[in-house]
Amino acid sequence: MKNHKIAVLVKQVIDTRHTEQYSLGANGTVDRNALPAIINPEDLNALEQAIRLKEKFGNAEIIAISMGPQRAAEALKEAMYRGADSAVLVSDRRVAGADTLATSYALSLAVRKVGADIVLAGRQTIDGDTAHVGPQTAQALGIPQVTYAEDIAVENENTITVKRRLDNGFETVRTSLPALVTVTCTSAKCRPCNAKRLLRYRKADITVWSADDLGGDVMRFGLAGSPTQVIKSEQIVNEAKGSVRLTSSTEDIARLVNQLITNHSIE
Ligand code: FAD
Repeated sequence: MKNHKIAVLVKQVIDTRHTEQYSLGANGTVDRNALPAIINPEDLNALEQAIRLKEKFGNAEIIAISMGPQRAAEALKEAMYRGADSAVLVSDRRVAGADTLATSYALSLAVRKVGADIVLAGRQTIDGDTAHVGPQTAQALGIPQVTYAEDIAVENENTITVKRRLDNGFETVRTSLPALVTVTCTSAKCRPCNAKRLLRYRKADITVWSADDLGGDVMRFGLAGSPTQVIKSEQIVNEAKGSVRLTSSTEDIARLVNQLITNHSIE
């Protein structure tokens, strides 16, 4: 089999799952510096799929790619301790302020530059939460995309089949390579950091690419390449207006069902 290159997109995020441990500012904003920075959870699922693919192909290289500040190199190091063979950090003031479109454009150039024929990403991040970046990166690369992957099988060196999670079941999709696959949190958990890899990669350099290294159109990077405009942001606090105590009587159940139909919770 040929030597496949598998790129895994890794975003460093603040651990928004544990904001309750940290005080929120008076305006409701989270103190980012007080929160631990972690690899976005679904990116770890994507990394595990990459490691499994490497085992199935028998011959492959895993390259973790991130775009972010210098600190994001920590996330890439962790990816190497867990199974990535090398890592690239795209970091440059000119790519800062990017919306999801400009982020995807920059990442697509990095993927092209490493020459990956399989790109794996998390389905969604826990901070931005848009689930845009995987599909938009595939679009920018002009390659097929398969989302919501639960498991990936190798059919032959140019074809994979992906088991996709749907609302009420699974779907199996075959795609030729190159392709981009986004992976969900219900797929296999990522293996932990490996002591031997930690010793081997502790002092390894992470390749850092600037906007110039990526090439491409500078007007599509960062703020300049971001069509999204934030008009206003508001903090919304959900408050219960009151409560109704229901019994298991037929009348109360009928009342509840009527209410759910009226507010369109059920049809
Ligand atoms: P999703 O689409 O939910 O991510 C899906 C998957 O894509 C992830 O699981 C991961 O595998 C991959 N992925 C996503 N982002 C990256 C990445 N950076 N590197 C590698 N893989 C990735 N953010 C800032 O930090 N600084 C800013 O100045 C800034 N300015 C912004 C300005 C605007 C107008 C807008 C709309 C957003 C801005 N953002 C900024 C947020 C930034 O656009 C998003 O963090 C980024 O595009 C990723 O989007 P997401 O978190 O929704 O990812």
